[in-house]
This record gives sequence, structure tokens and C-alpha cells, in this order.
Amino acid sequence: MFQKEVYTQILNEIPSHVQLVAVSKTYGIDVIQNAYDEGVRIFGENKVQELVPKAEALPKDIRWHLIGHLQTNKVKYIAPFVEMIHSVDSFKLLQEIQKQALRNNRTIKVLLQFHISEEETKFGFKPENLDMLLKEEIWNQIPNVQICGVMGMASFSEDMNQVRNEFKSLKNIFDTLKKSQLFSDSFKEISMGMSGDYKIAVEEGSTMIRVGSALFGKRNYA
Ligand SMILES: *Cc1c(COP(=O)(O)O)cnc(C)c1O
Repeated sequence: MFQKEVYTQILNEIPSHVQLVAVSKTYGIDVIQNAYDEGVRIFGENKVQELVPKAEALPKDIRWHLIGHLQTNKVKYIAPFVEMIHSVDSFKLLQEIQKQALRNNRTIKVLLQFHISEEETKFGFKPENLDMLLKEEIWNQIPNVQICGVMGMASFSEDMNQVRNEFKSLKNIFDTLKKSQLFSDSFKEISMGMSGDYKIAVEEGSTMIRVGSALFGKRNYA
């Protein structure tokens, strides 16, 4: 169930320049429609096969963000409508997004995902490869892809100091990339912070928080 009071409370807590992405993965069409009726417009999903049928069933002015790992062979299914892909972590994927965005005659916004946590399973560019990224030739070969910033996930840890330090490391990566002037003025987003840590993320410079369970209740899987 969509919890309107929590939604309103979070909006009141965060600065107005911070965007709230309502993470609706695993929740049904009716729940998302309910949130939509309460004014929510940006929704995040982590799987293409879940996002596509939801986008077909729900109002067309929803701004869909893909926040989970994306395989290159699935880009074509979301390219016609996705607003932003938060989880870009390879050049191969960037090239495929360029190809599919061009085919659909549009621009797709993306964030570069960085692996900032201590967890092994998380995807993302490695911060130690930042120099390599800065030297890449690809950046001016993808005119239909708008690089809007960075994304990262902190460790699932009780240690809030660790979480804070991981967010700081993402902010540093953002600053380095911004300074490089490789990207346009649209490079301004730092997507970090979820239900359990969005307050810390905002303190550390987040401009987009991705909140699911706080808004919709516990999911039925771990
Ligand atoms: C599920 C998910 C979230 C939201 O997590 P909650 O703890 O439910 O707020 C945020 N970001 C990503 C990438 C996710 O997969």
C-alpha cells in the first residue's frame, strides 16, 4: 500500500532540489496507480521484464527510471520510453543505449554507476578506474545519450559511518568527473540514498534518492 503520509514527510525533509524516485519494484499496478493518484510521477524499477508491462498499463506521463543492472540485449525494450537509466556500468552498454536511443529518435539520460560499497555482488565502475574513464574516447561518440551524473549504493550496514564514507566517496567521484568538463551542464545528479539511508545521503550531497519500502511497505522477498 502506498503510504501517503510517509511520502509527504520525506518531501518535507529533503531540500527542494532533491528528487524522489519512488521505487515500485515488486509492487503491483494498483499500488503504483494509487501513488500516481497522490501525485507521484517518477518511478524506479530494477528489472526490464517488470518495467515494460507496468509502463504499458499505467499513465503515459509517468517518468520511468531503470535503477537495476541492465543487460545490453534488453535495452531495446525500454529505449522507446525510459527517462533515465541509473545503472550504466560499461562502455558496451553505453554504446547499445546510443544505438537504441538513435533508433527511437530520442535522447536517453543516464547515470554512471560506481561500486562504492564493500559488497562483492554490486555492479558498477570501479572508483580506481576513474582515470581510465576520464581518458575514454567514447564520450563524444554518443550524442543520443545524456550523461547526467553518477549513482551508487552504500553497503547494507548498521555502521552509519561506513555508509556516510561511501556516500562521500561517490560525491568525490562526481566532483572529479564534473571538473574534467567531459560532460555538459546536465552533469549534475548524484543518485544515492534508499529507505534506510537517504537522510545521510542528502547530507552528503545526494540530488536523487531512490526510496521503495519506506513508501510502499515491506517487499515479499529479501
Ligand atoms: C530496491 C532498490 C532501492 C530501494 O530500496 P528500499 O530499501 O526499498 O528503499 C533503491 N535502489 C536500488 C538500486 C534498488 O534496487
